Amino acid sequence: MHIYHSFSRNAGFEEGGIIMRIFRAYNVWPDFPSISLSGEACALNCKHCGKVYLKDMEPAISPEELVQLCQHHKEKGANGILLSGGCDSKGNLLYLKKFLSAIRQIHEMGLIIKLHTGFVDKELAETIASAGVDIASQEMVGDAGTIKKIFGIDASPEDYLATFQNLQKAGIPHICPHICVGLDEGNLKGEINALEMLSQYITISTLAIIVLRPTKGTALSNIPPPSGDDVEKVVTYARKLFPDIKIILGALRPRGSEETGGKAQRLDIEMGALRGGIDGAEVPSQEMLDAAVSMDFSIKKIQAYGVLPVDYEGRVRTD
Ligand code: SF4
Repeated sequence: MHIYHSFSRNAGFEEGGIIMRIFRAYNVWPDFPSISLSGEACALNCKHCGKVYLKDMEPAISPEELVQLCQHHKEKGANGILLSGGCDSKGNLLYLKKFLSAIRQIHEMGLIIKLHTGFVDKELAETIASAGVDIASQEMVGDAGTIKKIFGIDASPEDYLATFQNLQKAGIPHICPHICVGLDEGNLKGEINALEMLSQYITISTLAIIVLRPTKGTALSNIPPPSGDDVEKVVTYARKLFPDIKIILGALRPRGSEETGGKAQRLDIEMGALRGGIDGAEVPSQEMLDAAVSMDFSIKKIQAYGVLPVDYEGRVRTD
C-alpha cells in the first residue's frame, strides 16, 4: 500500500518502511497540443523569442476554428490543450476576449485547459475563470530593467504580480507561474525577487522553471546560455520558499543535440535542476532520468504538461 506524503506536491510514498520520492517525467505531444490564438501575429518582438515560438504552435484564429481544432484533437485522443499566442503592445494576449465562449465549449468537451494569460485585470480574470480554464500560467519577472530590455514594455514586477493576484481572486483552480532563469540576456537578475514576491501573495499549484534558450532567428541567438549552477541557485531558493509545492523544469530550455554541442549544456542544466530539488521535468533526457533513479527517485511518466496538477493525473495517460 502506498501512503502519500505532502498532498499538494505528492512528492513521495512509503514502501516497506522506505520513503520513495517521485520524479515526474512529462511528455506533452500528442496528448496536449499547443494552439496559438493569434497565429503568428504578435505586436511585441521580445529579444529571446522574436515570435519564433509562435511558429511551433497550431494556429486557430477564429473561435469556430478553435472549437473544430479541439474537437479534432479530442477525437484523436488528446486530454488537454495549451492556449497561448502573441501579445498586443502592452503584453495582453491578443484576441483573448473573443475566444472566451469557445474556451467554455472546449471545457465542456472535457479537455483540460491550460491558458498562458498575458496580463489580465480583475474583470478579464473573472471571465477566464467562468470559461472553465483549469490552469493559468504566465511569466513572473522580478526586475523592471529586464522587462524593458527583453520585452520592450514599461511594466513592473508589481504588474506581473497583480495579474497573478487577479487570477487567484477570480478563483482559477490552478495558478502556475513560470520563472525564466537568465532572462536578462543569460544573466541572473530578478529571479530571486520574482520568487519572493510570489511567495508572499500567491498560492501556487506548480512552479515551472524555464531557462533562457539562445534561439536561432532571435536577438539573443549567440549569447551563452545560463549554466547548471545558475539553475541550481534559482531552484534551491524556490525549494526553500515553497517546500510543499511541485516545482518542475519546463521544456523551454536549451536542449540542443550532440551534433551542435548542445547536449552537454542540456545535461548541465538538467543536473543543476536536480541538485536544486525539482520534482519533475518536461521532456527529460535519459541521462536525467538515470541520475534521478540514482538519487532514489521512482520515475512516473505522465503524458501532459509539467504544470498538470497532481489530482488531475487520473485524467491523463501515465506509467
Ligand atoms: S510576446 Fe510572446 S510571442 Fe510575442 S515575441 Fe514576446 S514571447 Fe514571443
